[in-house]
Amino acid sequence: MRMCRMRKTACLGIVLTLVILTIYHRYTSVNPVISKGLKEESSISSQFKNAIQQFSAEERPATTFQEESESGPPEVTNGNPLNGSLNPDQSNHLANSSTAINIVVEDGLPLSDHHIKVEPDNYLARCSISKGIHHNGADLQVSDLVENLPFQSENTDHGQYNGNLKPLPTSEELTVFLVPHSHCDPGWKETYDHYYERDVKPLLTNMYQFTLEHEDFKYIYAEVSFFKLWWEEQTDKVRQDMARLAREGRFEFVQGGWVMNDEANTHYFAILNQMMDGHEWLKKNLPDAVPNVGWAIDPFGLSPFMAQVNSMFGFNAMHIQRVHYTIKKHLALNRKIEFRWRQSWDPDGDTDILTQLGPFGGYNSQSTCGPDPDICLHYHFAAFTNPKFGKDPNLVKTTPSNVKERSLKILDQWRKKAALHSSNAVFIETGFDFSYIYKESLEVIYSNYKPMMEYINSHPELNTRVKWGTISDYFDKIKKSNVNFPSLSGDFFTYADRLDEYWSGYYTTRPFFKNLDRVLESSIRRTEILFSFHREKGDVEKLTKARNTLSLFQHHDAITGTAKHHVVLDYARMLLNAFKTCIELSTSAVQHILETKRTIGEQFQPIRQRAGYEDLEKFRVLEAPVGLVITSTIPRKTDSAQIIAVKSHLNLEVESTGGGVVLQQIEPAIEYGTLDPNSEFIVFRTELPSVSINKFEVTSSEKDKEKDRANVQFYNPGEKAAEISSRDSFTVLSHDSACDDISLGGDRLALILDCRSGRVKRIKKEGTSVEIEQQVLLYKGRSGAYLFRPSGSPTLLFTESSRPEIVVIKGSLRDKAVVTLRILNSVLVLTYIVHHHPGLEGEFVDLNIMSNLRDSGDLSIRLKTDIKSGDTIFTDLNGHTIQQHKYKSKLHTQGNFFPMPSTAFIQDSSTRLSLLGSEPHGAASLAQGWIEVVIDRRTSQDDLRGLGEAIQDNIPTPAKLRILVEARSATPTISDLYVVEYPSLVSHWTLQSLLHPAFILSVNLDQRDPSASTLQLMKSLPCDEELVNLRYVNDTTSQLIRRKLGFSCAINTPVNCDYQDLSLEQLFAGNVVIVNHPFSALRTEEDTKTRDLKSMEFSSQYVTFDEKMSF
Ligand SMILES: [Zn+2]
Repeated sequence: MRMCRMRKTACLGIVLTLVILTIYHRYTSVNPVISKGLKEESSISSQFKNAIQQFSAEERPATTFQEESESGPPEVTNGNPLNGSLNPDQSNHLANSSTAINIVVEDGLPLSDHHIKVEPDNYLARCSISKGIHHNGADLQVSDLVENLPFQSENTDHGQYNGNLKPLPTSEELTVFLVPHSHCDPGWKETYDHYYERDVKPLLTNMYQFTLEHEDFKYIYAEVSFFKLWWEEQTDKVRQDMARLAREGRFEFVQGGWVMNDEANTHYFAILNQMMDGHEWLKKNLPDAVPNVGWAIDPFGLSPFMAQVNSMFGFNAMHIQRVHYTIKKHLALNRKIEFRWRQSWDPDGDTDILTQLGPFGGYNSQSTCGPDPDICLHYHFAAFTNPKFGKDPNLVKTTPSNVKERSLKILDQWRKKAALHSSNAVFIETGFDFSYIYKESLEVIYSNYKPMMEYINSHPELNTRVKWGTISDYFDKIKKSNVNFPSLSGDFFTYADRLDEYWSGYYTTRPFFKNLDRVLESSIRRTEILFSFHREKGDVEKLTKARNTLSLFQHHDAITGTAKHHVVLDYARMLLNAFKTCIELSTSAVQHILETKRTIGEQFQPIRQRAGYEDLEKFRVLEAPVGLVITSTIPRKTDSAQIIAVKSHLNLEVESTGGGVVLQQIEPAIEYGTLDPNSEFIVFRTELPSVSINKFEVTSSEKDKEKDRANVQFYNPGEKAAEISSRDSFTVLSHDSACDDISLGGDRLALILDCRSGRVKRIKKEGTSVEIEQQVLLYKGRSGAYLFRPSGSPTLLFTESSRPEIVVIKGSLRDKAVVTLRILNSVLVLTYIVHHHPGLEGEFVDLNIMSNLRDSGDLSIRLKTDIKSGDTIFTDLNGHTIQQHKYKSKLHTQGNFFPMPSTAFIQDSSTRLSLLGSEPHGAASLAQGWIEVVIDRRTSQDDLRGLGEAIQDNIPTPAKLRILVEARSATPTISDLYVVEYPSLVSHWTLQSLLHPAFILSVNLDQRDPSASTLQLMKSLPCDEELVNLRYVNDTTSQLIRRKLGFSCAINTPVNCDYQDLSLEQLFAGNVVIVNHPFSALRTEEDTKTRDLKSMEFSSQYVTFDEKMSF
C-alpha cells in the first residue's frame, strides 16, 4: 500500500483508523456526499498533505480491512446501544468485546499499547454525574430559602434593618478594613470612551498619586478595559510606581476581567474570553497585580458559574452584592453571608470558593458603613467636594472636639455590620460610581477618617482595629479566623432590590444586540480556531481588538441592554467592526490554509453579509457557477443542511468537488419572513468532518430540476402568496378555510400546525406526542430597561381566531412554514423548519422568529403543553449548568421569570420539551405544562434605576429557538427540590450546531483548485466534550480549551457519534506538544486537574505546533 510507506506510527494510525471506520460503517449509513477520496495531486504543502491524508483516511469507504474484523462490532440497534437506561456492566462489555478484535499492526505491539480503543459508546458511562447525585451536600440551598421564606413585599421590610440590629459586643475583637474603590461602568449613561476621558482618567491618576503619597492608604480597582487606556498614557515612572504599589499590596486588582460581566445573559465562552483578555493584559503590562479575589458588586443577580470561573482562575475568594433583599437579609441575620459557594454538580466541594455577600442594599459609601443609611450619610465625606451629592446636614468634618462622638457613632455601625458576619472582620467599601475624580475627595476622606481611626485604635477598650485595606487583606484575615464557613448551593436569580421590583426585564432588553453578541462569539471562536492552523500571522492586533470588543460587551450595562440609546449605538458600531474583522480574518485564514493565493486568487467572499450595525445578516445572491468553501468548527462529524441563495432560473446545482451527488432542494427565498422574488434558496446536505474545510461547487446543470423543487402551499394567502404564485417556478396549492392540519416533517418527527390560525398544535416524535396550545402574549405594565413589571393579565395576540398568512414549503430535505402575524402595530413572523434527515437535524424543530415591536410591553411566546411538569422549569446558567426553578405565587409574575442564556426545559416522567436559544431571553413556566420565552420588549417608561430612559429603539430583530422533544425515563429522586438536571447529549449537540453554524465562502472558479475536497484540521473530540476555543497565543502556540459536558442518563442518545478515544496529541495533524496551562495568564502553577477532564469541568492546555508545519 502506498500509504504504508509513510512513518510507521502514521501508518499504524491509518490502519487502526480504517479498522475503526470499518466497524463504524457497519452500523451507520454513509451518505454519498462524504464518500469521496483524496485526489493524488494536491497543492497543499507536503507536511500538511501527509497529515491530511492520514486524517482523511476516515472519509474513505473502508472495505480493505473488513475481513480483519471478523468478530465485528458489538450488536447495536438503531444507534442506541444502551437503550436508555445505562448499565455500566454493559458498557464494560462493549469495551471488552471491541478490544478483542484481532488486529495485526506492523510493529507488533498489542493494541492496548496504542491508546486507540474501539469504544464508540463508552462515553455514555459518563452521564453518571447525574446518577445518584440529587443532593450536592451543601449546608445551604438557595432553593430551600426560596421555598420557605416569606416573599410578599407587603409583609417584608425590604431588607432594611430600621435600627433594630444589635452591634457585635465589644467583648469580641473586630478588625475593620476601609477599602477605597471606584465602580467604573465601561458604558452606561455615557460611552466607554467618554467615561474614560471625563471620569476614569482623572480618578485613576488621583488614586495613584494619593496612594503613592500616603503609605497607609490602599485602593482596589476592577476593570482592565479602562485601566488599559490610562496605562497607555502613563510614563515609565508611573508604571514602575504602580508595579511597586501592587507588589506592596497597596494597590490591588480585583477580578481583573476586561469588565465586570453581567451574569444572566452571558455565555461561558464570552465570560472566559473577557477574563482571559483582562488577565493577559495584566500579565503583559502589570504582572505584579495578580487578582486573587472575585469582585461583582453591580451585576443584577448572580450566577454560581462565576464561582466556578473564579476558582478556575485561581482566586481564593470572591465578593458579591446584588441578591434579593429577602434572601440577603435572611442570610445576614443568620450570619451566613460568608459561605463557600458550591457548584450544584460538585458534591465533593472541590470547586467551592469562599464568598462574602455584602449585607446591605448597595456598594456605595452611603450603604456600606452599616445597617442605617441615614447614619452612613453623615460620613459620606465625598459630598464635601463632589457637587453631585446633596450634603447631609449631619455631615461634618472630624475635629478634635467631635472625634470621640463621631468615632463611636460609626463604630456602632461597623459593629452592627460585623454582627451579621461569622468572622471577626468586616470591610467597608468607601467609594461609589466613578468616585474620586476630584483629588480633594481623597484628601477629604483620608483626613476625616484618619482621626477616627487613630481614636479607635488607641482605645483598647473598644477592642477594634481599623485600617485602610484591600479586599485581600479582609479575606486573609477571615481565613485565619478558624470559622467553618457553611457551603451554599444555588443561584441568585431573580434579583429584587425592593418591593415587587424584580429585575427580569433585562433578560430580554434590546434583543437584537443580545443576538449579535452570540453571532460575534461564534465568529471570534471560528477565527481563533482558523488562526491556529495557519502560521502566517500579521493581523493579531485586529484579532485582539475583536476579542476586546466582545469582552467589553459582556459588561453589566452592555449585553443587558441597559445603557442609554447613544451608548447602545456606540457598542453596536464596535460589535459590527469586530464582526467584520472576524469575517476578514477567517476568510484570509481559510485562503492561507488552502494555499489558494497561488492557485485561485483572492475572490473568497462570505455568502452572508451584514451591512450596518442595525442590519440583519443576509444572503449574497450567487449569480454564476462558483466554488463553495465550507468551514465547520464543530469537533465532531456534522450532518447538516446548508443554504445558499442563487438568482432564479439559472438552473444551478450544488455538487461536491469531484462531482459527487449532493442531495438538495430548491425553495422560494424567504428569510426573516421576507420573500426575495429574484432569488431562490438551494438547501443542500453536507457531512462535514470534525473541524474541517470542505469544498463544494455550484455548477450550471442541464438536468431537470423539477424533482428538487419544493412544493408551496398557501393558507390565508396574502402578499407572499401573490408574489410566489405569479412565478412559474414552484407548484403552488392554495387552501381555503376547509383545510386539514398542516404537518411538517415525517414519521420520525412531525410538527402539526392548525391550518387556519397557524398555531402549533402538536409535536410528534417516534411514539411521543406533545399536545400544544401556542400563544403569543403582550404583557403591559410599568416595565423599564431593568425591571419587568406587568400589570393585569397579558393580552393574547395569537388565538384560535387569528388568520395569519401561512406559506408552507415542502421538499425532500425539509419542510418549512412561514406564519406572518399582524399583531397590534407590528408584524411577527414565525418560521418553522423540520428536517427529514434522520441525523441530528431530524431531532428538533427550528423556530425562527422575526419581531419588531412597536407597542409598549413584553412580547412572549408561550407553549401550553400536556407535559405534567408540576411547578418546575429548568433554565441554564451561562450555557453551562442547569438550574431548577419552581413557580412561586409569592414571587409575583416577574419574580418567576429567569434568565435563559441558552436553554429552558420542562419535563415529566416520560417526556422533556426543551427550548434552545441562539441568544439569551427571559423564560418562565407560570403553570403546569407551560413554557414561555420573552422575545422582544419595549417600555413606556424609565424604571428609576438611574438610566433615565425608556427603551423604545426597537429594530427588526431575529431570534432562533430550537424545540426539542425527547422521551425520558424518570430517575428516582431524593427530593424534587434538590434535583440536579442536565441536558441530553443531543440537546448539547443541537445547541452547539445552533450557535456555531458552518462558515461558507464562495470562491471564483476561474482556476480549478486541484487540492483535496476536505481538509480536516482536528480530529473528533469525545462525544461529551466541547471545543470551547483554540485561542491564538502566538505564531506557534494556541490555547486549547475544552469543556466536558454533563448530560442526562434519563434520555436516550438516538444519534450516533463516531468517537475514538485519542490522546490530545493525536487530535492534531503533525507534531504538537501539549502542556497544561492555567486559564489565567497570571498563574504560573500547572493546573494538574485539567488534562483528565471530569464532567462539568473546563480544561486549558497550550498546544505548540511543529514550526515546520506550514498550513
Ligand atoms: Zn455598574
